[in-house]
Amino acid sequence: MDNIVDVFNEFLDEEWALHQCACTEKDQSAYVTARTAFYWKWCKRVTIPNRSSYREAFEKQLELEQRRTLFQIKKYDGGEEGPIYRAYVGDHRVSVGPSGPNTRYNQNWYMRSFDGEWKVFGLSQVCADCSTLGASDGQSCTSCGGEGWKWFATDRVKRGELLGVHKIEAPASSRHKEEYDSE
Ligand SMILES: [Zn+2]
Repeated sequence: MDNIVDVFNEFLDEEWALHQCACTEKDQSAYVTARTAFYWKWCKRVTIPNRSSYREAFEKQLELEQRRTLFQIKKYDGGEEGPIYRAYVGDHRVSVGPSGPNTRYNQNWYMRSFDGEWKVFGLSQVCADCSTLGASDGQSCTSCGGEGWKWFATDRVKRGELLGVHKIEAPASSRHKEEYDSE
């Protein structure tokens, strides 16, 4: 899984670099050009039903306060199209909680190889109501349908069997650390 770790880190580095470009670039057209290049590099030729709303949401993602942390990557059977990789990444907002800098899961990015090129094709956000648990007080979470994550701008990714987990850094959040240690 070393290669896919590099791919996700490249994606997160470029996302962060693009944000810095947006902050420092006086000529906004240069930023727009860079943003478009980033979008096409990582999202081109991906089958998404509502492409314009996805792109809008994707670009909103680029309003960052920090580079997202890469906590772990899970690999799933994706059938004939090859394996699916799910990256657990941290928040783009900088906030400090009682236990120090807030390092929590914030999003899952899904990536796979399309004709030899790595593309993101799925995105979900931690459910604010159950924080990945999928349940509270023994009841399935109604907010996320018990999944613990809410799909965001893309279709639900149909994951096959879990094939492997590559751990990189544990989140500080105790709830998310529990999930981190569970598989
Ligand atoms: Zn929920």
